[in-house]
Amino acid sequence: MIYQGSCHCGRIAFEVEGEIGKVMDCNCSHCSRKGYLLWFVGREQLRLKTPAEAMATYTFNKHVIQHHFCPNCGCAPFGEATDKTGAARAAVNVRCLEGVDPGALQVVHVDGRSL
Ligand SMILES: [Zn+2]
Repeated sequence: MIYQGSCHCGRIAFEVEGEIGKVMDCNCSHCSRKGYLLWFVGREQLRLKTPAEAMATYTFNKHVIQHHFCPNCGCAPFGEATDKTGAARAAVNVRCLEGVDPGALQVVHVDGRSL
């Protein structure tokens, strides 16, 4: 399955291929503010359709995750990081995907606030 994703204004657009299994709802100071519902995929499963320079990027804490967001409309459709094995990963905010009903997904609640 290929999902189409974007920010609200369309400055960031991408597609991501795979089957959405569980999604993560984290209560840390950052995720809870943005309302992320995250689906983790290999970075190669995500294809950016708009220039990478169109995205603004926020990092915090250990600065290992690049949280991309749109400088125009403010939506935060995905982030990128490298896992322990050196593999490039992406965390896709399924709220920014077309045709996905967040209420129909299995949500795993992560207590990031306590980490
Ligand atoms: Zn936008």
